[in-house]
Amino acid sequence: MPKLSDRVGTFTDSVIRRMTRISNKYGAINLSQGYPDFDPPAELTEELARIAKEGPHQYSITYGAENFRAALAEKHGRTIGRYIDPETEVVATCGGTEAMMCAMMTVCNPGDKVMIFSPFYENYGADTILSGAQPIYIPLVPPSYDFDISLVEAGFAEGAKAIIVCNPSNPCGKVFTREELTAIGELAVKYDAFVITDEVYQHMVYEPYEHVCMAGLPGLYDNVITCSSLSKTYSITGWRLGYLIGPEEFIEAAKKVHDFLTVGAPSPFQEAMVKGLHFPQSYYDELLATYTEKRDYFLSGLDRIGLKHNVPQGTYFVMVDIQDFLDLPQFKGWTDLEFCEWMTEHIGVAPVPGSSFFHEEVNNLIRLHFARSRDILDEALERLAKLKELL
Ligand code: GLN
Repeated sequence: MPKLSDRVGTFTDSVIRRMTRISNKYGAINLSQGYPDFDPPAELTEELARIAKEGPHQYSITYGAENFRAALAEKHGRTIGRYIDPETEVVATCGGTEAMMCAMMTVCNPGDKVMIFSPFYENYGADTILSGAQPIYIPLVPPSYDFDISLVEAGFAEGAKAIIVCNPSNPCGKVFTREELTAIGELAVKYDAFVITDEVYQHMVYEPYEHVCMAGLPGLYDNVITCSSLSKTYSITGWRLGYLIGPEEFIEAAKKVHDFLTVGAPSPFQEAMVKGLHFPQSYYDELLATYTEKRDYFLSGLDRIGLKHNVPQGTYFVMVDIQDFLDLPQFKGWTDLEFCEWMTEHIGVAPVPGSSFFHEEVNNLIRLHFARSRDILDEALERLAKLKELL
């Protein structure tokens, strides 16, 4: 076969999504790729059934159906306290994944530097490669996942074109404070650079923490590109709906990139989601209550078993420390990936190895998610207890 591009040799498939395939192979409980095992709200599935009969089934406007963009702009505008023009400041995308890729391709020339906090959601690694950007990693240091703002300034001073801020942060559950976001944003303004946010988990921020949208902070709007998704907020990861919101000049260019990447997000799903975007505040309060309950239940289960873990401030992920297991003679010299594969086959619970999120050499963490119904979480905890018996 003729030779493929050099680019494809520089990254692997997604380990998160590979773990789902491994989990399926062994019939394990999949706590790797983060998606819920429960249905979206009935109003949305009923609306989708109606649309299946009545349409639309053809392309929407490439950058999003008019009513869908209007609803996105209204919801986001309410959150950040600013009018968002649905015609000039919004692009509907195929999930948060396309939103991020589209933002990167719109902002970066090959060779441009982009700062990424580490640990990071693994897509950003491939996004930089595909857009030709050079990552500069800024450590979020466990266990508190704090960072040194002087490193961010140094990155901008070195010429970084942008910084990616995943807030709340996948995989470590950090919720950036208003002060942290302001400091990052002010540096972006000072150095005439972009902040690209990933706010996919914005409605999963646990008390007493608070989600602050960077685009809404004073003086930052023109430097902030918001990427988000409806997948997690409405339990519709398969519908592939996301969006970009940003200043007009950026959106005008992003519309072109998006058009040639995907043409558009699926029109029947956009149409059905208009209803969801008009849900009252009580919907989001209930979602948060559900996930708070799941978090507390799952973490107390881990505590009962005696597995060491962080306490996520947001998201539905938890990092578990596996060093004690890797110190056992039977696992000596194993990578976290090998341990995760073993765990999936022999314990029956699929995690994601921490090394797929860290730029630094980290081999002692695994990521689990708790977007599962109560009986599955119970079964998962029962299986995880078997792990502890090895010690
Ligand atoms: N964000 C989810 C995770 O980190 C998965 C998203 C995806 O696979 N596209 O597990």
